Amino acid sequence: MTLADLGDARRCERLVLKVGSALLVDDRGARRAWLAALVAEIAAARARGQQVIVVSSGAIALGARKLGLEKGGRGSLADAQAAAAVGQIALSGLWAELLEAHGLTAAQLLLTLEDLEDRRRYLNATATLGRLLDAGAVPVINENDSVATQEIRFGDNDRLAARVAQAARAGAVVLLSDVDGLYDRHPAEPGAKRLPLVRTITPEVRAMASPVSGSGMGSGGMISKLQAAEIAQLAGIALAIGNGHVEAPLARIAAGEGTLFLARRRAAARKAWLGGRLRLKGEIVVDAGAAAALGKGSSLLARGIVRVSGDFQRGDAVAIRDGAGQTLAHGLIEYDAGECTRLLGRHSSEHADILGYAPRSAIVHRDQLVLL
Ligand code: GLU
Repeated sequence: MTLADLGDARRCERLVLKVGSALLVDDRGARRAWLAALVAEIAAARARGQQVIVVSSGAIALGARKLGLEKGGRGSLADAQAAAAVGQIALSGLWAELLEAHGLTAAQLLLTLEDLEDRRRYLNATATLGRLLDAGAVPVINENDSVATQEIRFGDNDRLAARVAQAARAGAVVLLSDVDGLYDRHPAEPGAKRLPLVRTITPEVRAMASPVSGSGMGSGGMISKLQAAEIAQLAGIALAIGNGHVEAPLARIAAGEGTLFLARRRAAARKAWLGGRLRLKGEIVVDAGAAAALGKGSSLLARGIVRVSGDFQRGDAVAIRDGAGQTLAHGLIEYDAGECTRLLGRHSSEHADILGYAPRSAIVHRDQLVLL
């Protein structure tokens, strides 16, 4: 996949387009003319045979203006939730009106993190998106900020867009931002160079990301964009970052002005969903022997576990990390937290004596495990 393929309906039949707050809203309110131009590009993509799903930020910023809240509505969670409730009406109205001008029907979906972390609700979202696209609508999605609680929310639409792309089985995600892509250092620093292509997100690549969003308006920043790219890569989906502050931003990205994160091998759909989980119920720290065995495709056995934390039940998703804190895998666990602690370091043949029963010899079976 290349940046040019993003505009090619045969190479990328389904595209998720994320639009950040700083593009949609300025001091005077919604940037209507800018959005109308972007919608014209979306309509052109549709005419080429591409299906487009929009993930739109801007509700908090718009609502905060209407309510007169300070700090763009991000001073407190209560402010953000109130602002989102007000701003979302205006935001979806605007999208609907501008899409309608091209004969396109908008469909609003407000999702919470849990809607995509719970397997059944995730599959439900998949079905709804598929039906909407087949019926010719343009889904316009945002986080349901007014009800999402502090601990369990995306908080940024970058990762939401990647999870939506996974649910929709999209070919690519485009994150429209206020920068041209990922730079090898802060873009304001002299000599900073844009990376046109990233194959793997290594620690060096991560170190290039500046932690704050340039505009101060959205909550994205480059770190959440890299996290989104990791989720997409694992799901076999390419992700591009490009500048929205230009005329015809999609055409400019397709002309090569952006950063493309290539898709990795496509993990099976269920494993990709598990790998992209953002909230995990517990953490299992393993020794070097177990880490090596996992890398070769083995199940996780109690013998190689050195520490267990979290309050999880059998069937919950947990992170498996090495001693240095690096996440090796996500998996669905076969025992609850108390049982894992009792089995830690012990051989599988001892499980029955320790617990009085031994339903599984592995703590996480390899079929329920995805390497990251
Ligand atoms: N969901 C937020 C909004 O609509 C934006 C989150 C973000 O900045 O990425 O305002």
